[in-house]
Amino acid sequence: MIITLKPNTPQIEIDRLAEYFESKGVRVHRIHGENFDVFGLVGDTTRLDERDVRSNVWIENVQRVQVPYRLANRMFHPEDTVVDVEGVKIGAGQKVAVMAGPCSVESLEGLCSIARAVKDCGASILRGGAYKPRTSPYSFQGLGYEGILDLAEARRRTGLPVVSEIMSERNLDEFIEYIDLVQIGARNMQNFQLLKAVGRINKPVMLKRGMSSTVEEWIMAAEYIMANGNPNVIFCERGIRTFEKMTRFTMDLAVIPLLKEKTHLPVVIDPSHASGDWKLVEPVALGAVAAGADGLIIEVHDRPDQAFSDGAQSLKPEKFRALVTKARAVARAVGRDL
Ligand code: PEP
Ligand code: MN
Repeated sequence: MIITLKPNTPQIEIDRLAEYFESKGVRVHRIHGENFDVFGLVGDTTRLDERDVRSNVWIENVQRVQVPYRLANRMFHPEDTVVDVEGVKIGAGQKVAVMAGPCSVESLEGLCSIARAVKDCGASILRGGAYKPRTSPYSFQGLGYEGILDLAEARRRTGLPVVSEIMSERNLDEFIEYIDLVQIGARNMQNFQLLKAVGRINKPVMLKRGMSSTVEEWIMAAEYIMANGNPNVIFCERGIRTFEKMTRFTMDLAVIPLLKEKTHLPVVIDPSHASGDWKLVEPVALGAVAAGADGLIIEVHDRPDQAFSDGAQSLKPEKFRALVTKARAVARAVGRDL
């Protein structure tokens, strides 16, 4: 971090500031210029908040040299991380993982029939929401614990590991017992209490991007989970809010190469929530695979018009099968498998 002090800062204040930074565990290299005094802070500056430092009356400018995340940072961990979800390996050029299933778990038999269909099409992980973060309190809120038990039973019957969204730390024990990949939804990306809680468990976590979050905020959310002891984090881009209204959200595919440059963690793409329209799901998914995604998560329903949530963006199994076939060809074209 490079700190420029205001012109004519009294020597006593310069010394005080240097002492303060040293007390934070960094070394201070002083440069006495003709007009400005400059500090070069060397060491781990992740504990210094740039905005707090900038608020000091004697400080003119603050420039970070190093990003504020360490554990997720590619610089300190050059190899790609592979996250193992019950034998399905995600990241580091492994097979592109396909997760699929209904938006919400609606019934055990319905779930199992979709699970068998997506497995037959090539999916290796079953998705299904039991706790649903709905915009309206009058919309279907999910089956809760019963939905979690249905997922566990679908997993027992099909052999597919399961991914589901956790909304509250109170439900942690159910997820530890029955869910293979714990999803943090877009709306909870900055629920720091929840991030800390999933940081303390021994299960992989899929962290969706908040719909209005910057990439750096998203990486810092991953850092929360990792700093609490859980290194198995997967990013999931699901579209961000922009001025555009014709799609539900705006898919940001550039984050795939970007996150891979900045971090060592796998990146999964959710074309369903990003587009909000089943007709757009396949082309966006193919683009994601071409851009290097480590996985896809796709909503599939056998009767989308009767789905309890997100029917408009859900693919029927036959459309999902066509998507997987094309995505496999794209994966091979870019040196991957699927
Ligand atoms: C979901 O996966 O069903 C979901 C609610 O996703 P998001 O958090 O991305 O909106
Ligand atoms: Mn959904």
